[in-house]
Amino acid sequence: MAEPDRSERLQIPSPQALIPGLYVHVPFCSSICNYCNFNRGLFEEGLKTRFVAALLQEIHTKKGSDPLFDKKGSDPFFDTLYFGGGTPSLLKPIEIKAIIDECRDLLGLTPGAEVTLEANPETVTAATLEQFREVGVNRLSFGVQSFRDEELQRLGRLHSAERAVQAVEMARAAGFDNVSIDLMMWLPGQDVAQWLTSVVDAIRVDADHLSLYILEVYAHLPLKQEIDRHGWTQQPDDVAAEMYESAMAMLDGAGYEQYEISNVCRPGRESRHNLKYWTDGDWLGFGPGAHSTWRGVRWRNMASTEEYIHKLGSGESVVAERRSLPSDERLGDALFTGLRLNRGVDINILSARYGIDIWSRFGDRLAPFVDAGILLRQDGRLRLTRPGMLLGNEVMSVFV
Ligand code: SF4
Repeated sequence: MAEPDRSERLQIPSPQALIPGLYVHVPFCSSICNYCNFNRGLFEEGLKTRFVAALLQEIHTKKGSDPLFDKKGSDPFFDTLYFGGGTPSLLKPIEIKAIIDECRDLLGLTPGAEVTLEANPETVTAATLEQFREVGVNRLSFGVQSFRDEELQRLGRLHSAERAVQAVEMARAAGFDNVSIDLMMWLPGQDVAQWLTSVVDAIRVDADHLSLYILEVYAHLPLKQEIDRHGWTQQPDDVAAEMYESAMAMLDGAGYEQYEISNVCRPGRESRHNLKYWTDGDWLGFGPGAHSTWRGVRWRNMASTEEYIHKLGSGESVVAERRSLPSDERLGDALFTGLRLNRGVDINILSARYGIDIWSRFGDRLAPFVDAGILLRQDGRLRLTRPGMLLGNEVMSVFV
């Protein structure tokens, strides 16, 4: 049972211009990459089949019992659906179809919605890509990470650089005109020139959208031991900054627009779904470990796939934690995430939405960043400069 809509009590309207999104978490991978800190497990056909049935049940239950959907004629609707993971492309097109249909028929996924499928290059064929497109997927996000085989092997990835190029070409042949690629920089043993060869290759395959992440090496994950065993080194921090800045400059030159700290795209190819996370939007998440944020209430599902399936089978809730967000925290999140965007945040709109004067509240602590050229305060907006994006965490820590 969801908590009452706290936004009414707080008198905080949700952003009217923003239509909410849907997220589906698919927690399976063919093998586990040595750096991976996501909620995932090894693919098993039987478990996957039971998971899909449970997921459809969760969507059904949400429609049937959640107060979000119980007012006739005023049900919410959604304009994005994002399959994340794990490796969602391990599901069969017919399974993806069943989930899309359920979202459309029960939850109100709009015609023309952006439907993204995360895919690993080695999992797709020309035929499955055509089928994914036929069942309603219209955006692909390939987990490429690198176009250098040596780096891919170090990360424990299953695909080669050549396979990644083929996957994008097959996607084009299947009719996809919105293809994103994830790349990771600051890999063990990687120098600036090697990193930039991957950026060049991503431009060469003409990705519509690129997400550039800095690898985080967690002490508890196998990559850390492998780095120690093989004596691989990561470049110093200032070289990581050079990797970031030189890649962004190269992408500028190739006609891409940076719209978020880690994301660039061809004009009009921003991730509509991810923009909801950065613009104080709402979304519903389904699947093990999925998070949701809805009008000031945030909840997350239990992470274990077996437990998730079991609970749904016995008619119990799969929500592990749910809490109402105090308005201060909502405002802090809106500023924190909004500053990730190149366009930054409109402090007049947020001040009105949350009923406080943002500059009066935070100005003392933000002014030094403005003086240092890290943060711009212009035309009622606050935004990070590109050099400031490398120091974004320091600025954002003002809000948390
Ligand atoms: S494919 Fe992605 S989710 Fe799966 S193990 Fe590798 S990094 Fe983790």
